[in-house]
Amino acid sequence: MPEDARRHNRSLALQALFGSDPLSRADLARSTHLTPTTASDLVSGLLDDGLVEEVGRRPGRGAGKPATLLRIVPDGRHLVCLDLSDEEAVVGAVINLAGAVVTRRTLKRNGRAGDDAVDLVAELAESLAADTDRPLLGVGIGSPGLVDGHGVVVAAWSYQWARVPLAEILSARLDLPVHVVNDANAATLGEFTFGHTTAQNFVVVKLGQGVGAGLVIDGRLVSGERAAAGEIGHVVVDERGELCTCGNRGCVELAVAVPFVRQRIAAAGADEAARRRVLAGAGRRLGLALATVVSAIDSQEVVVSGPPDIVDERFLAAVLGTIRRRTIALIGEHVDVRASSLGTDDVLFGAASLVLSQELGIA
Ligand SMILES: [Zn+2]
Repeated sequence: MPEDARRHNRSLALQALFGSDPLSRADLARSTHLTPTTASDLVSGLLDDGLVEEVGRRPGRGAGKPATLLRIVPDGRHLVCLDLSDEEAVVGAVINLAGAVVTRRTLKRNGRAGDDAVDLVAELAESLAADTDRPLLGVGIGSPGLVDGHGVVVAAWSYQWARVPLAEILSARLDLPVHVVNDANAATLGEFTFGHTTAQNFVVVKLGQGVGAGLVIDGRLVSGERAAAGEIGHVVVDERGELCTCGNRGCVELAVAVPFVRQRIAAAGADEAARRRVLAGAGRRLGLALATVVSAIDSQEVVVSGPPDIVDERFLAAVLGTIRRRTIALIGEHVDVRASSLGTDDVLFGAASLVLSQELGIA
């Protein structure tokens, strides 16, 4: 069988087993539309590779021989996953094939930028790789800024990176496949693969050092012409607002990016009412930027990814209220706004999802 077809069939089998109860070889053949012989051959290969294991037999039904059940070996491979969206630290975890966190590590940034920050990221990946004795499937990274389809960070101002081939550099240092995606898109992949959403059309907004969104349309993450889909950070939501680094006034990034909101919360001090006004105001401005996005794709859900000191009930209610006031009822009344079901781990799980899809064809 040609190698491409083999890889494709292998992905179908792994996809069927991923997140499923154990399946028999006959179940696999049925759900993948492969012949029983092909399915059985594939299973032999997956057993040899240590990706799949037999887990007993299905209780007998009728006179036939009980079928042997198969599942993905949770620790058959480990994944090194990194989240670069925090301004203070680079955050990482080893995640297994069942989506469980095996170990975590965090390294303080201490202002490191440029090549020095690339070294910091490599040190984190290397130390995580050394934490496990299981075979590594690869490294996944969620980075702020614009990231192209080849793992080149085209621009990430907070790290002072411009056209940094992060995937290539790390792959050479670790001798592993490395995949990089924008942090908002990572949060979206995490929600899609490991989160609670069942929606096929939704938006994930990532509040980090900047603001970005991941858009899922008909069950697919949209990347856009220049891999910049969802770059909503410099949409103007207040024409008389503060001057932004981009030259305009009142960009949504100034209203809701984590460092700016935290500055305003700090300025409110112990005044609880003032703190709530800060969060409600930030939520309203985010809602203004999202009303058009939600209308354009008829989104069922808006998932907000960000730290819990900002993304609270009041903030989410302000986002939802503004979207509803600024859209037609058909759309606005059916949209739900909620925090990420993966909490602050959404970028890490998105990085895991990226490695699973690129290396095993599991989406
Ligand atoms: Zn701007």
